[in-house]
Amino acid sequence: HIDTVPEGSLDLWSRPPFSATVEGNKIYGRGSADNGEGVVSSLLILKNLEKERMKYNIGLAFAADEETGSSYGIAQLLDKRIFKHDDLIVVPDSGTEEGNIIEIAEKSILWLKFIVSGKQGHASRPDIAVNATKLGMMFILDLEKKLYEKFNASDSTFEYPLSTFSITKHEMNVDNINTIPGKDAFYLDSRILPQYDIDSVMDFIAELSMSFSQANGVKIQTETIQKEQAPPSTKTNAEVYTLLSKVVNGVLHKEAQPVGIGGGTCAAFFRRKGINAVVWGISVEDTYHKPDEYVVLDYV
Ligand SMILES: [Zn+2]
Repeated sequence: HIDTVPEGSLDLWSRPPFSATVEGNKIYGRGSADNGEGVVSSLLILKNLEKERMKYNIGLAFAADEETGSSYGIAQLLDKRIFKHDDLIVVPDSGTEEGNIIEIAEKSILWLKFIVSGKQGHASRPDIAVNATKLGMMFILDLEKKLYEKFNASDSTFEYPLSTFSITKHEMNVDNINTIPGKDAFYLDSRILPQYDIDSVMDFIAELSMSFSQANGVKIQTETIQKEQAPPSTKTNAEVYTLLSKVVNGVLHKEAQPVGIGGGTCAAFFRRKGINAVVWGISVEDTYHKPDEYVVLDYV
């Protein structure tokens, strides 16, 4: 994918995020690893192929919008039916430095926004205000705890074996210290193991927010920002997996290992259409989305 996440807080960067700073065998910058490395490596492969010896046709798809849901990216390309069911799809958007990990499964993704409405007031009179920030914080913490308790299954195919429920974005509430906020908004990023139906998680959240609202005199509105049920995983007997694991073995002299991840990639969109896809690369994945993101040039 050719889009990137935003740079985040600039003070956390020790090099400018959009200048591609080269130091030794590394290039620093937002998007250098995620997913510039995959894009450039793919182009270099194309450049170096010995076309007369090829057994397969090859094509590259460059998609935007991957970091924000893909509806204007790979989903559009799939709708235009430019891929066939027996295509061997490799998404170069995840990897390890050893190159032995082949990603075959992803968790369901659920992004929710909670708008908490209370009653704004003077900070000296909490008795007659309803503090949307305080109650929102109580609600989101309670929700996080109960989600972890309820959806606690573990699946060792995944590099992190549990479902995750992360409290992330929080919107600006009031400009001044002496006003009790009457409105606030909190966001939750959930990555749910495929064995759970995402609607059962939504129902559980709806019940909790209802009972919290009633008990505390606030209104909690839930908005769904992204909701993608995990597709069935790519099987390890699929042609794309067996061929790639042969290459990992023959070229890198490593035993390929199938794993599931919590991040969403373009592969899920292929799997949902019944097209086998794997995600593979040689990469320092630990730098994705972080300040001072970098790519090691030897891996490109
Ligand atoms: Zn990516």
